[in-house]
Amino acid sequence: MKKEALKLWMNLPADTRRMLLSNVWCGECRKPVTIVDYHAELRRVVVLQGFCGTCGHKVARVIDDCGPEPKQNLE
Ligand SMILES: [Zn+2]
Repeated sequence: MKKEALKLWMNLPADTRRMLLSNVWCGECRKPVTIVDYHAELRRVVVLQGFCGTCGHKVARVIDDCGPEPKQNLE
């Protein structure tokens, strides 16, 4: 697991993390599932890569507001 991605992820409130982890779309189950065996990667933002807790299919969750730079307000 990339240290910076992990740090950004762990900076989120526990409630938020729990909500995100249990609300990952699985293309196999066709419903939101819990992600298991995940790791965090840093792209432009943090991306969690792991597996569906129900069927084991590969799933990923982009954490939109979790990046190294503050989100720009474009409005
Ligand atoms: Zn699944």
